Amino acid sequence: MEFERISKFFGAHRVLVDLDLQVQPGEKVTLIGPSGSGKTTVLRLAMTLEKPTGGDIRIFGESILFDSAGKPLSTSQEARIRRRCGMVFQQFNLFPHLTVLQNLVLAPTTVLRQSKEQAENTALEYLRMVGLEGKVHAYPAQLSGGQQQRIAIARALILKPEILLLDEITSALDPELAGEVLDVVRGVAHETKVTLLIVTHEMRFAREVSDRIAVFDAGRIIEQGSPDKIFSYPECDRTRAFLQSVL
Ligand code: ADP
Repeated sequence: MEFERISKFFGAHRVLVDLDLQVQPGEKVTLIGPSGSGKTTVLRLAMTLEKPTGGDIRIFGESILFDSAGKPLSTSQEARIRRRCGMVFQQFNLFPHLTVLQNLVLAPTTVLRQSKEQAENTALEYLRMVGLEGKVHAYPAQLSGGQQQRIAIARALILKPEILLLDEITSALDPELAGEVLDVVRGVAHETKVTLLIVTHEMRFAREVSDRIAVFDAGRIIEQGSPDKIFSYPECDRTRAFLQSVL
């Protein structure tokens, strides 16, 4: 995934400034930095939920903004790219009127046109992966926040995305429930080849799970490097100040 000189304005407010960022296949990259520095906007751009004001974004070598003639992509071209990416949000966004199993089979049966039986078998496999096979017939309201978020992760993985975008997935949870969600992501990071682009305020988790950390400040990446470099030998004063404020 390549972001090339991306700028983003919301009205007159400049949120991203000539941002360059590359993520290699299978790499686990975490974006950290103060609130409002533009991290979530980067994930939303990758998912085509927002359009940049300038610059280009390529995923799998293809622009997600323009076709080969330089024209904006059609909705169906965009949908094809979006299917290769999955996103999990701070709020779990499960359908409250559907059971866990129904939440999990919805996209495979509609988007991927799998048979109900095939989708249910895959759903059970992913439920085991997130440790919730006992909750197949529960409704979201009967689950803790941590359990709901683990289901949301299973729901994203079930579509076999090549890139998984995780946007502050533990911010709405108590520390104890956040821990169980982060355990699931650690498992995903270690056991699958999925490319991960993560926004989190959990610095210990970022350190453990990432190949690379990019530090944001006011719409720019001010430094990036291995977790060891960023946490033990940060070069920028602003990185040091940010880390002191959160550690
Ligand atoms: P972070 O993830 O680092 O906290 P965000 O990417 O969420 O930062 O937001 C960056 C800035 O863009 C913030 O000032 C935020 O208020 C603003 N912003 C984000 N989304 C919108 C939007 N849809 N409309 C207007 N401003 C927005």
